Amino acid sequence: MKSVEPLRHTTREERERYLEEAGYNLFLIAARNILIDLLTDSGTSAMSTEQWAAIMRGDESYAGSESFFRMKRVVDELTGFRHMVPAHQGRAAERILFTVMCRPGNVVPSNTHFDTTRANIEYRGARAVDLPVPEAADTQARRPFKGNMDVAALERLIATDGAANIPLIMLTVTDNSGGGQPVSLANIADVSRVARRHGIPLYLDACRFAENAWLIKEREAGYEDWSPKQIAQKMFSYADGCTFSAKKDAFANIGGFLCTNDDRLAAQETDLLILTEGFPTYGGLAGRDLDAIAVGLEEVLDPDYLRYRIVSTAYLGRHIADRGVPIVEPPGGHAIYIDAGRMLPHIPKQQFPAQALAVELYRHAGIRSVEIGSVMFGDQAQHELLRLAIPRRVYTQSHIDYVVEAILEVNQARERLRGLEIVEEPPFLRHFSARFRPVG
Ligand SMILES: *Cc1c(COP(=O)(O)O)cnc(C)c1O
Repeated sequence: MKSVEPLRHTTREERERYLEEAGYNLFLIAARNILIDLLTDSGTSAMSTEQWAAIMRGDESYAGSESFFRMKRVVDELTGFRHMVPAHQGRAAERILFTVMCRPGNVVPSNTHFDTTRANIEYRGARAVDLPVPEAADTQARRPFKGNMDVAALERLIATDGAANIPLIMLTVTDNSGGGQPVSLANIADVSRVARRHGIPLYLDACRFAENAWLIKEREAGYEDWSPKQIAQKMFSYADGCTFSAKKDAFANIGGFLCTNDDRLAAQETDLLILTEGFPTYGGLAGRDLDAIAVGLEEVLDPDYLRYRIVSTAYLGRHIADRGVPIVEPPGGHAIYIDAGRMLPHIPKQQFPAQALAVELYRHAGIRSVEIGSVMFGDQAQHELLRLAIPRRVYTQSHIDYVVEAILEVNQARERLRGLEIVEEPPFLRHFSARFRPVG
């Protein structure tokens, strides 16, 4: 390490006060009051020396910036798509995609939609449908590809709703809301075959394409000797386009893009981009951000990095699961998910067990995590999960050992935990700003 940031300790009394002030919503707690921040792996990666060097090369020209062409070259080679539209982050790419492709009443299936993806589809008046494989329902099943889409359910949906009413099919790799589980190449091929047969475009929500590629290398027969890049290229080859948040597998602090093979759509997307994001060669980003993304997209495919990444995620998972804390098995790419519904059976889902666990982990040890359950997804929630997302290249094993200890201590005292109720919430994406109070 050649650059460090201090960690700030707080007392339990202070944390109790911060919780009250934040309405028991960890999104509303100031970062300076967090010791270990596992809220998200998004935009929180440590950048490399090469990325910082690239930032100094950033070309801030309004039109035709060199930085854009450097990023475009990397994206073209990796994905093979005809068009790449930069955007300030993943959800901006989603908003443009769904504005152009969706009409009110349409249906958009996915293995599992991410929260912003679902919200952007619903905001267009369309319906977002999750079609995970049945084995994803059992958090304890140790199966290799629990992120797969249920292809038979997709066929049934197309038969019921009609292909004309389905503007696109999405596959989230890895499946973030479904426990960070990978999607196999065989499944991507199957979904692609069904999509082509019905003339429906297939898009990848490709935020964690490199982690997905590594898990294919480790778990899917026939790909042991392929490089992560070859596997990623094969994944993209089945799709007609993608959305991407560079805040995940490009190690950037901000950024994203949208790709498509459709010339007509690309023209419409570019028009919309100019309206809200900026000129098509910067898309709401500084030139230096485009350069950081270009370098990050190559670094993330380094086998040594990916091996370290997946092993260190599994380290956290195994150390708590093997001592009795139920996690989504097997550990996936970017995060460990505790099955709070199973850990806290005395708290009904109407009282948000995973939110209660997030609050207790902060109160006990200053660790920030995030609920992925009924607070985030309402009645659509399949499970009550607590996500511990691991920022890339940021924490050491001793930081993670501290997290392990804290979780095991909270688990010892789990019967004392109480649920929460909502006192205030916005009309959509309520988890970001809702306020709670402890029950009874
Ligand atoms: C983070 C994420 C997004 C949205 O990207 P942002 O850059 O946060 O807007 C979309 N899909 C998935 C699977 C994600 O993890």
